[in-house]
Amino acid sequence: MGNNTRFWLDAWLCRFTLKDIFPNLYKLEVFKGCLIRDRVVFDGNRAGNFVWGWSKLHLSEENLVDAEDLQEMVCGFSFKVDKKGGWRWTGDSSGLFSVRSLRGCMAIIYMGMDLLFIPVAINLIAKGLNSIYPECSRCHSAPETSAHVFLDCPREKEVWRAVSLWCHWDLTGFDSFGQLLEVAKQPDDNLGRRILGSIIYSSIWFIWRQRNAKLFNNGISSTLFTMEEIMTNLFGWIKNRSGHKDIVWLDWIKAPLSCFKA
Ligand SMILES: [Zn+2]
Repeated sequence: MGNNTRFWLDAWLCRFTLKDIFPNLYKLEVFKGCLIRDRVVFDGNRAGNFVWGWSKLHLSEENLVDAEDLQEMVCGFSFKVDKKGGWRWTGDSSGLFSVRSLRGCMAIIYMGMDLLFIPVAINLIAKGLNSIYPECSRCHSAPETSAHVFLDCPREKEVWRAVSLWCHWDLTGFDSFGQLLEVAKQPDDNLGRRILGSIIYSSIWFIWRQRNAKLFNNGISSTLFTMEEIMTNLFGWIKNRSGHKDIVWLDWIKAPLSCFKA
């Protein structure tokens, strides 16, 4: 990533451009082609401050929430100046992603490649961190690869079974992320595809969060707890951030793919 990377128009933070993720903020941007260095002031390897150029003096509440999400996404990353003088994402120093907003986490998951390079033991060992224990910290029965952590680990298979029962769509038994993400394209209607995709992405995200909470903070980790996180967070996100404000909790927990049609 060079010094000439454009803040909104180049896909520098994830696979999508910030213009795509935050279209309403992009509309308010005065200099559409501004560079990262025009908007982000770095404090060492991290984003320290933001210099915005909005066309309005006062942003709406919705725009402010978007701007907060955006700042949080950018701050969740640390950057390294590479040989060519550009910034390179290096991940959070603790190996944990710190983004709290669902949109932020989805955008990160959307990076595609990142699931294969997420800091599980095998990937850390490949980077030369030999002191890492190579086996899965949850089941101790297989090497801790990305595919194992998210798809094959008996603990996470339970989560996928529970999610499948909830959304009435079989999300079990996949060998690769590619296969799993393809399922999101199966529903006949556009809304169904979006909701199923959101369920898959947030399941991946909360499996990762629970695993780290257990590993680093000895937090709660159970299929039930992970399910609760997926269902409540996604519900809140859809109700507050999408055009479906009238979504009803009881319908959502019974049939998330069809509760919008009533
Ligand atoms: Zn395991």
